Amino acid sequence: MQNQRSVIAVHGGAGAIRRGSMTEEEEINYRAVIAGALNAGHRILIHGGSSLDAVCAAVQVFEDDSLFNAGKGSVFTNDGKIELDAAVMDGKTGKAGAVAGVSTIKNPIIAARAVMDKTSHVLLSGTGAEQFAASHQIDMVNPEYFHTQQRFDQLQQAKKHAEIQLDHDGSLSGMPSKEFESSQTDNKFGTVGAVAVDCFGNLAAATSTGGLTNKLYGRIGDSPIVGAGTYADNATAAVSGTGIGEYFMRGLIAYDVAARMKYLGLSLSDAVDQVIDSALNQRGGEGGLIALDANGNVKFGFNTAGMYRGYMKDDGVPVVLIYSEEENR
Ligand code: ASP
Repeated sequence: MQNQRSVIAVHGGAGAIRRGSMTEEEEINYRAVIAGALNAGHRILIHGGSSLDAVCAAVQVFEDDSLFNAGKGSVFTNDGKIELDAAVMDGKTGKAGAVAGVSTIKNPIIAARAVMDKTSHVLLSGTGAEQFAASHQIDMVNPEYFHTQQRFDQLQQAKKHAEIQLDHDGSLSGMPSKEFESSQTDNKFGTVGAVAVDCFGNLAAATSTGGLTNKLYGRIGDSPIVGAGTYADNATAAVSGTGIGEYFMRGLIAYDVAARMKYLGLSLSDAVDQVIDSALNQRGGEGGLIALDANGNVKFGFNTAGMYRGYMKDDGVPVVLIYSEEENR
């Protein structure tokens, strides 16, 4: 039964994104890709499609664009490789699928969805995940497909400063470098994600990332970990996070939003505010998240200067925001 309006919200990473930190043209390009991702999801929702299909379609738009740290244009590991993570979760069934540490799957979110739909597992990693994807006719690419000069330069910068970097930033003030034997400089998390509610009231969440610039080989972040960077449950919320994944994993941030709604009876907005404060602010972490409940309430929460984000309701009007001082909700 179609009982309600659909909504999709997306993010393209949080970080030290301040006015003046990019050219006008760059800003226009970022806003256009965010609007494109919203449109891709909205097209599905408006025709009665599922939130699950919508979030995967939106994330795929980001993965195919080199501006964001997911799919093409992902950041480099310390040893000059690209290792991608992605996850999707269905709020109706509680099913989830994820891949981690993959280097040859063109769209990791498609592989994550296939893990959910076609196996009894939740998370496949590395070569096993790649074998699985290839055997399910998912597009495979040479690892060089993901490389961009900008990310390569970012790696050199990070190495020079011996830092681990988030993708959209400038300085890694919040990065406890002790925790990483190599580290990062550019405080931007270019991870991408989407949450949606469809006309049946079903929620879904999806997240895809290249992780952190200069991360150690084999490091897996929060994005493919259910409850850390990605979570969806029809009874509470759909959540996708971005930021220093280690904080999201330790705090099970995405699940914590849902848990506060479930056990404390908090609204979506209050739950997100509390989680950002307790799991990030109070622990010295950085990042943000997008969250949506089954009534279509959208909440963006972050403790960085900005977060690439937006939402679209049934009216098909894209609302795209970047800086913290832009109208939030
Ligand atoms: N959360 C991601 C990770 O730690 C990074 C990001 O958000 O850009 O892998």
